[in-house]
Amino acid sequence: MTTTLFISDLHLSDNTPEIEAGLYALLEREHGMDCLYILGDFFEYWIGDDDDAPLNRRVIARLKAVSDSGTAIFIVRGNRDLALGGVFADQIGAQLLGDTTVIDLNGTAALILHGDTLCTDDVEYQKMRVVLHDPSWQAEMLQRPLSERREFAQGLRAASKAKAENDPNNIIDVNDDAVATGFSEHKVGLMIHGHTHRPNRHITEGGERLVLGDWSANESWIIRSTDRGCQLEHYQY
Ligand code: MN
Repeated sequence: MTTTLFISDLHLSDNTPEIEAGLYALLEREHGMDCLYILGDFFEYWIGDDDDAPLNRRVIARLKAVSDSGTAIFIVRGNRDLALGGVFADQIGAQLLGDTTVIDLNGTAALILHGDTLCTDDVEYQKMRVVLHDPSWQAEMLQRPLSERREFAQGLRAASKAKAENDPNNIIDVNDDAVATGFSEHKVGLMIHGHTHRPNRHITEGGERLVLGDWSANESWIIRSTDRGCQLEHYQY
């Protein structure tokens, strides 16, 4: 039996030791899984693949061990870790995917994505996204000294915390038309994403949409796909 797991929105940072422990527990528990898809916002911030902070080094070592053991790892950037690059992917033995990818999930074509691109009602965010994803802006940012980027990230983190940006009430949900377009444009009947922090299973006319939840100090979410289908699993600890 083929087992594929999906996770997203761990928002790993120095302030999330429980989530980091939860991740390592999952990797141990699911040792031998065939595929692991990380669908964005794995890190709360990513200031460049050259950042050798202790958290990054620990996570890289664990994921490298997982890929070395035979699990195929795929990673999608989120809106918070959009600067994740090829060096990081290489270090963990993973493949970095684009914004949208259609995969064959036990015989079913599935669209996988972070989910922020479906939230088209958040006009301000979509405008900012265009800027942040501009290659020249990114290159300019990544050229700055590590110390300057670290300071910049600290500032962003404080501002984000003050505005409770990760609270689902403060994240605009997907737009139904964008979802319908996703199904038709990619010719799929299944979609898997995170970002909204609204874990659920939605059956719509266009297809089935599975939404991952964000991790916290006492709960985690995964989607498990096997020959028997897909299920959203919730763990409390
Ligand atoms: Mn997100």
